[in-house]
Amino acid sequence: MHRTIRQRKLARVVNPSNILASGLDILHVDAHSHIDKYTAVEIASVLDEIEHHRILTLAVSVDPTSYQRTLEITKGCPYLVPSFGVQTWDAPRFVKDLDALAALTRNSPTIGEIGLDHRFITDPGSHLAQAAVFATMLDCAEADHKLVNIHSAGAELAVLEMVRTRNLESVILHWYLGPLEPLGALLDCGHYFTIGVAVLYDEHIRAIARYIPDDRLPTETDNPGGERFHTGRTGRPDLITRIETSVARLRATDTEELRCLVKRNALRLVKALPEPLQTNDVHRMKASPS
Ligand SMILES: [Zn+2]
Repeated sequence: MHRTIRQRKLARVVNPSNILASGLDILHVDAHSHIDKYTAVEIASVLDEIEHHRILTLAVSVDPTSYQRTLEITKGCPYLVPSFGVQTWDAPRFVKDLDALAALTRNSPTIGEIGLDHRFITDPGSHLAQAAVFATMLDCAEADHKLVNIHSAGAELAVLEMVRTRNLESVILHWYLGPLEPLGALLDCGHYFTIGVAVLYDEHIRAIARYIPDDRLPTETDNPGGERFHTGRTGRPDLITRIETSVARLRATDTEELRCLVKRNALRLVKALPEPLQTNDVHRMKASPS
């Protein structure tokens, strides 16, 4: 059985390069947040909090519906940069129409959350679908020089193989929790690694937080679910301040200095973004349900 996913007429997306031109006053960086996962009741106060704390936020999504809501939310807040992505476990739904997926991907100013997950998903059929979807979206990132936000749980070596065969300019490995060996090889490729909420709870993540060089380190929350994964509580944007404090302590620096280097890294990533395409076309794609 097939069902049609109709992507509605999309609003004009924010131009990420305007973030720099407008002199937006950035204090914190959240390089991976699912802003569309907040409820309609929560979202107004979430946006207030982002603006109050001046948090540059890369707003990832997980499918066309999630991206549409992300776009609608980002219109109301200059600190948000929208990103179209496909969640790893949803890859089987999209693998049968990769051309349509590529069209959607090319209309987004950044790409993610995408990637491979062999840790929480063990079905080999899903692994094949994930690889096909990931390859398609990485090819778009390479062709359009776009930033990608990558999930790699339990598939770090496979991700390494797929990214190092492409000429990708701006790669964020989000919530990397694998061994240090592929991490080193990914650093050699010039890629960035976020440290997020797990630094508050996980000793291995603390080791990674000490290991990442200064010039490759953004911070993230993976809100609102990252905190929920650890404590059951919904993560709020100001969670980023607790993460900064923890990372700064681990790296024997002060919070102010850490914020400065993270901001420098984020601006380097955002500067690499292309002019966004107009997204006023109506795209249709067919995909089988997972
Ligand atoms: Zn995520």
